[in-house]
Amino acid sequence: MPRPVRRHTPAHVDGRPVKITFGEMREMGLRGVLVYCHCGHHVALDADHWPDKVRLSDLEPRFICQGCGSRGADVRPDFDWNGKAPFGGLGYR
Ligand SMILES: [Zn+2]
Repeated sequence: MPRPVRRHTPAHVDGRPVKITFGEMREMGLRGVLVYCHCGHHVALDADHWPDKVRLSDLEPRFICQGCGSRGADVRPDFDWNGKAPFGGLGYR
């Protein structure tokens, strides 16, 4: 019996893909995240603020861009984190 191809990607109720947790990210040796707004505004943040069980995608609806004021950002692991100083740009609530 052929199995159906697994094409379903886990997603949040609003359709955003479920991303890795901060714990998984730290296991990969990553210490920071990059938060991108669709307007092009982005900010690098220190991931130490968030507990291991929180997913990157859990944070996305909480960011409000200070550039364009829209809510909802794309949060990605920062593979180039080298102790960069975090800077402002996106408010976190
Ligand atoms: Zn924006």
